[in-house]
Amino acid sequence: GDLSEEQEGIVIAHFGQLLNIEALEGEDKGEIHSCHVRANIESLVTGDRVIWRAGKDLTGVIEARLERQTILQRPDNFGNLKPVAANIDYIVIVIAPEPEPFQGLVDRYIVAAETVGIPPVILLNKTDLLTDENRKPIDDMMALYESLGYHTIRASVKSSTGDDSNKGMSELLDWLDQHTSVFVGQSGVGKSSLIQALLPEHDIRVGALSENTRKGTHTTTTAKLFHLPSGGDLVDSPGIREFGLWHIGEQELLEGFIEFRPHLGFCRFRDCHHEKEPKCAILAAVESGEISERRMDSYRRIKHAIADQNARGLMLR
Ligand code: GDP
Ligand code: ZN
Repeated sequence: GDLSEEQEGIVIAHFGQLLNIEALEGEDKGEIHSCHVRANIESLVTGDRVIWRAGKDLTGVIEARLERQTILQRPDNFGNLKPVAANIDYIVIVIAPEPEPFQGLVDRYIVAAETVGIPPVILLNKTDLLTDENRKPIDDMMALYESLGYHTIRASVKSSTGDDSNKGMSELLDWLDQHTSVFVGQSGVGKSSLIQALLPEHDIRVGALSENTRKGTHTTTTAKLFHLPSGGDLVDSPGIREFGLWHIGEQELLEGFIEFRPHLGFCRFRDCHHEKEPKCAILAAVESGEISERRMDSYRRIKHAIADQNARGLMLR
């Protein structure tokens, strides 16, 4: 009747029952339609590819969800995993000289990325704030992640012309091109500033604010997909920026330290906690230098923090 042929689209935002679908093909390519979902489709999230039909006046109906390449999930209050965004290619973990990066926190973000199977990229922002005092520990940290095989980028939003900071921003743009990425990281590292610089037409903060007052606080948790003028997409929401601080299980934590993986399963005891056990393959790898002390310390810290969290959770229940 009033609906067009089936076509492919992408979820770029949602507002309650309605989803904004961008046409990916045909005459409507690039057009955004506010669509209903057929009742038989499981929850759709930003980044999902769908089959849909366009209706009149930029409306439409979503018929099916296409297979997801990746899915970012977060646990709800009951510990059930809920999808937050789909088809994310990179999790860009932003750090900066200020606020000072903590290895444990960065490792937590990396573990979370490894757990969902999305490659993390470590982005050092604010290179303009590097000094003789803070440079060494940051260089060491970046070198450690490079040695583990992670891609690292150094950039500065506040790049003064002539220094190598602009090179960093263009390296970042190249990396984001052709992919869908999210920015995560501690508050104050410059995520908003980066997004602002990459998407000059959008005022992310003002946008979030005005929506807030119009529709209530729940809108702030829904992710939106933005096209970068230079190519590639960004998915952003306050919830996504906190990705990695959500709950991690003990096994996920262990496997999230990629250099531990070749040693897992080789401890003498099957239920080894890799603490003081004899013939522990992980501890042996630390001893031989295959696993760095820093990463092992960080693993222990995160493990204890999780155990504390769980203990508190049990007491509340
Ligand atoms: P967010 O909390 O991660 O979103 O961080 P913001 O984008 O709000 O940035 C926090 C502060 O760092 C702001 O005052 C920014 O102006 C500043 N900032 C962001 N990027 C840079 C940078 O590359 N260099 C310097 N010097 N300051 C920056
Ligand atoms: Zn062990």
